[in-house]
Amino acid sequence: MEETMQNSNGIAENIKQVEDNIRSACKRAGKAPGEVTLIAVSKTKPLPMLEEAYRHGCRHFGENKVQELIDKYERMPKDIKWHMIGHLQRNKVKYIVDKAYLIHSVDSIRLAEEISKEAVKKNVISHILVEVNIAGEETKFGTSKDDAERLVREISLMPSIQVEGLMTIAPYVENPETNRQYFAGLRQLSVDIKRKNIDNVNMNVLSMGMTGDYEIAVEEGASCVRVGTGIFGERHYKTV
Ligand SMILES: *Cc1c(COP(=O)(O)O)cnc(C)c1O
Repeated sequence: MEETMQNSNGIAENIKQVEDNIRSACKRAGKAPGEVTLIAVSKTKPLPMLEEAYRHGCRHFGENKVQELIDKYERMPKDIKWHMIGHLQRNKVKYIVDKAYLIHSVDSIRLAEEISKEAVKKNVISHILVEVNIAGEETKFGTSKDDAERLVREISLMPSIQVEGLMTIAPYVENPETNRQYFAGLRQLSVDIKRKNIDNVNMNVLSMGMTGDYEIAVEEGASCVRVGTGIFGERHYKTV
């Protein structure tokens, strides 16, 4: 996977490389490249790097912290679609419900209820994905595979919140092929739920695949991939 870890290159080259890789994966999977949305995961990265990605065509950005998403939302061009991809605390929902284009990380009834309540107040529709812990890892957020349909059904009854599909964070692995089974599993789960024709539920979005494994995710049916390191380079977290 060396070609997906272009940390020494510039952002422009990285984006081009990732887009090429997505195109090739689409071709292998027999789908049109336009069917996959690249989300540039810009968490921890400073504005000039986001601006460079924007200049090179990125319009979807992913953040995992509410405050950081709001700060960047205020400062960046208004045609950007902001994706909330990180664990979301209920007391922070009110700050982003009218700013996030898609919330990827809904994994409980109580969180969904809070999103619904705040969306009603602000008179918006909140578009969300149900996060599924498809590999059953103890350390991960996300609903279990078995509970996903029940959660989708309950959310479908709430006002001003719209289920658009499923999201998963696959395990961190050396060999990305290991995650193929999980991507295929999430895809199958979304097909199974779609077949139930639940009112008010779309299963059109499958958010899966990160820098290490997005090509495999696309081959297995991802409709959006979340790539951070592969575009912006390694992240350096401040230690407090
Ligand atoms: C950080 C993050 C990513 C991007 O990870 P990379 O390995 O840097 O591509 C994708 N999805 C989620 C939910 C993340 O938190």
